[in-house]
Amino acid sequence: MKYNSTRDSGKSVTAAEAIAEGISPDGGLYIPESIPRFTEAELEALVELDYIGRAKAVLSRYLTDYTEEELDKCVRAAYTGSFESDCPAPLSRLRDGEYMLELWHGPTCAFKDLALQLLPRLLTVAVKKTGGGRTVILVATSGDTGKAALEGFSDVEGTEIIVFYPSDGVSDMQKLQMQTQRGENVEVCGIIGNFDDAQTGVKKIFTDKEFGERLAAKGMCFSSANSINWGRLVPQIVYYVSLYCELKRDGADLSSGFNVVVPTGNFGNILAAYYAKQMGVPIARLICASNENNVLTDFINTGVYDKNRPFHTTTSPSMDILVSSNLERLVYLLSGASDKINSELQSELSRKGSYRVSEQVLEALKADFSADWCSDEEASDTIKEYFSRYGYLMDTHTAVAAGVYKKYVERTGDTRTSVTVSTASPYKFTSAVLAALGVDCDGDGFEQAKRLEALTGTTAPQALMSLEGAELRFDGVRAAEEMKQVIAERLGL
Ligand SMILES: *Cc1c(COP(=O)(O)O)cnc(C)c1O
Repeated sequence: MKYNSTRDSGKSVTAAEAIAEGISPDGGLYIPESIPRFTEAELEALVELDYIGRAKAVLSRYLTDYTEEELDKCVRAAYTGSFESDCPAPLSRLRDGEYMLELWHGPTCAFKDLALQLLPRLLTVAVKKTGGGRTVILVATSGDTGKAALEGFSDVEGTEIIVFYPSDGVSDMQKLQMQTQRGENVEVCGIIGNFDDAQTGVKKIFTDKEFGERLAAKGMCFSSANSINWGRLVPQIVYYVSLYCELKRDGADLSSGFNVVVPTGNFGNILAAYYAKQMGVPIARLICASNENNVLTDFINTGVYDKNRPFHTTTSPSMDILVSSNLERLVYLLSGASDKINSELQSELSRKGSYRVSEQVLEALKADFSADWCSDEEASDTIKEYFSRYGYLMDTHTAVAAGVYKKYVERTGDTRTSVTVSTASPYKFTSAVLAALGVDCDGDGFEQAKRLEALTGTTAPQALMSLEGAELRFDGVRAAEEMKQVIAERLGL
């Protein structure tokens, strides 16, 4: 399997090259030249396997230049011991036909762990294969990616990791998770600005030739742990394949397929669901759920992507995004894998902040995707409603998706089996969750967590509670314009 760039179909690299580089030098994203498909029999066979077996079956279709032995080693190391149980992506049934896919049982309590426990291992193999030097991972984070990447890369040989987060755009617990990160090869820096400022800064640095040369002179090269890296996306396809297997095992009604509802920011998670569908998993509708930063809702409903709008800081910060990087991969695919059409749209986006896709692309989009959004208040009501109705406690991001699902069913009457993707532990966002349950929430994150435990009878993850009293290693905040300088200082350039 070869990989093209979404801005240059003529460019053709191996999976290892795509993962080692992270982003194509032309500014495009690497994308597999075709989508492999499981036959029905192959899919059924996966039902009998454990998560590791399913992961190997999916990865081996995409990472064809990795040996079976290499994949086996990477996958086993990623998913053994670091998650709360043998299945890193367990299914929880709320009632017949309505499920939650829980993706937050890893070391940092958000779904990013599913990919970021594996990516460093895939990357280390990739760098060996491609003969690269010391790899510097640059991350822009809206909160969860940063910590998950830090955990994944901490003290991984041959790597340095530098994380930038919007200083006022993450929850207290998220900030504390990053500021207390252990490891000799890690750097964390808050910036004044929002996530898009951080992401734009990182993208600029990636394509800065002069800076790249300074780095190369020291025997180092950049790569990315954001979902622009294919090595981040491919592990996410696995849990949708595994989801199908778990639904089968639970005896769910799949006679007309099943819907998935995904709380969406950078469009990585839901794009993985789209790939799983193309691979043969019987997903019916892909329901894209946004918070008040509803640029994707408008795009999917009208075909116009327009980031020229106010940026809202919401109670679901990991979805406070106006430029969804991975949408570029979908736009490219739906435009008939046309690098020309996609490049024009992306250059319009950077020039004017908006673009419109053709009627044909819009139709293709609507054939698979539905979209809606929830305000903070609606999400909050949803937390309360699901807790009182099902005894199910969810975080603010998941609540956006559950709220959108409710509206979707009211609007369409589509009541087939549905799975809402649960992307973070409620204990990462205690103040908003407590407020939703109508409880006074003074005190720090730990006091709030204890309060939430007492109130709901659920247990806070040890990974979060153990941060209490941990040493603050990184509390610096810099201007967004200084990101390059931060990197230069850290690496001695
Ligand atoms: C990252 C994140 C999202 C958004 O996922 P994308 O792949 O960026 O669309 C949603 N919820 C949580 C908790 C997250 O950390």
